[in-house]
Amino acid sequence: MTMENKDFSEAQPGLGFSTPLIFEQGRAGRTGFFLPLDDLAGESLDIEMSEKDFRPPVEGMPELSEAEVTRHYTRLAQQNMSVDSCFYPLGSCTMKYNPKINEDACSLPGFASVHPYQPERLAQGCLQLMHELAGDLAEISGMDEVSLQPAAGAHGELAGMLIIRAYLESKGEKRKKVLLPDSAHGTNPASSALCGYEVVELKSNAEGLLDPEAVAGHMSEDVAALMLTNPNTLGLFEENIKEICRIVHQKGGLVYCDGANLNALMGIARIGDMGVDVLHFNLHKTFSTPHGGGGPGAGPVGVKKDLSPFLPIPVVQKKGDLFSFDYDRPKSIGRLKSFYGNFGVLVRAYAYIRSMGPEGLREASENAILNANYIRAKLKGTYHLPYERTPLHETVFSDKLQAEHHISTLDIAKALMDYGFHPPTIYFPLIVKGAIMIEPTETETRETLDRFIAAMKDIDRMAREEPETLKSAPHMTSRDRLDETLAARKPRLCCGGQGEFVLFPISLIYKREPSTPGH
Ligand SMILES: *Cc1c(COP(=O)(O)O)cnc(C)c1O
Repeated sequence: MTMENKDFSEAQPGLGFSTPLIFEQGRAGRTGFFLPLDDLAGESLDIEMSEKDFRPPVEGMPELSEAEVTRHYTRLAQQNMSVDSCFYPLGSCTMKYNPKINEDACSLPGFASVHPYQPERLAQGCLQLMHELAGDLAEISGMDEVSLQPAAGAHGELAGMLIIRAYLESKGEKRKKVLLPDSAHGTNPASSALCGYEVVELKSNAEGLLDPEAVAGHMSEDVAALMLTNPNTLGLFEENIKEICRIVHQKGGLVYCDGANLNALMGIARIGDMGVDVLHFNLHKTFSTPHGGGGPGAGPVGVKKDLSPFLPIPVVQKKGDLFSFDYDRPKSIGRLKSFYGNFGVLVRAYAYIRSMGPEGLREASENAILNANYIRAKLKGTYHLPYERTPLHETVFSDKLQAEHHISTLDIAKALMDYGFHPPTIYFPLIVKGAIMIEPTETETRETLDRFIAAMKDIDRMAREEPETLKSAPHMTSRDRLDETLAARKPRLCCGGQGEFVLFPISLIYKREPSTPGH
């Protein structure tokens, strides 16, 4: 590959500087190397090397010095937004502060180096941690037993629905339907459908809540379960939950609660006390594991006593002073994950729960609720509120008022990036047209919230005074507004007149046919 004669030392300076593709950098013959010292321990370095000891040149590989490679990837890393670099108000995602002490805990050699095949007697500390974490989650939620196996919230939903199906089948019942409110997260109908159920959507009422009458109207002996979220995806507490559970139970159905919003309830109220039979936890949301970029997470599932025999295996048990894996559960839905779940995530959650304590967890939830309501109160009137009811940990606005100036939720989200904020969740929940869903979490200071509120107000001003600027936002980022469909469908990861490269790990390079330029 010929290297163009460009001087990249003058790439744009300052914030949001752009970084040329690595294929556009370097010069033939430039190199950097390190010796894998471990491989050479005890060997003399005085070795004769010949041509055959070297890998043949790989066509198209960029050739750079060590400093160039280091700078390239450091610059790319600086373009990342993360919860460690800015306010990240994604609703329903709980991008909260993850104390660094949790990272220390899970990288302790005894946890980080444990082998999945280590004999149980040599992994007693790890098993004890899992046993106690399951117990803590049961106590926090009011469920009777918890399995730590599922790898994410959606995986916990699948586990929970499989448990419900197995339980009903053990009683000789073959029910076909699952009821879901129209505010549900998309994973809820997906998990139900994966278990073979027909999904029936229930309309939320004018207050954004699930109506006991709507549930009663659809409840029959053919309904296996109702799946709900509490607080729901509008951030609203389903205050009729006890009555709703009673209606479902009366017809022999079960109630599943999506626990993704537990950050609003810790230490305040327990889902298990409200009549729910199955609940999943998102440890990477409520219990502090950092998330984003696809994982790893953990989605433990908790059940009431009658459903315990169906939990996925293995469950950690304690006999006398010894901890062990219990595989002897003939009614179990089986294994969901290799080995013992995402163990590092479990250690972080345990460290978080134990360092916070019951009062600390409650305080976290109370502050999360306070922060959401502070933003709601300050932006009320500037942005349209589709529901009047006081929310818990997150608040949903819409673009109704800005739409009068042809400014949409997408424009508002893009503009927030110019103010240094990650955009909130947009266009979800689906029942709110142009939804803007903000979850500040307990992490943020009053000053950060005030800066965010000021940015939102300024964006509203611009909607009235200079809508064209908003239409083309963001302006201060390293890339301006992308065509989102093309960016997703035809990502252009490399150019330089040599065709297109799709980058996996640096050593795996596929060369593809040149494509049309311009996107
Ligand atoms: C995040 C979320 C899920 C899915 O959880 P994952 O861990 O991302 O699989 C389900 N329901 C709600 C309400 C959520 O916010």
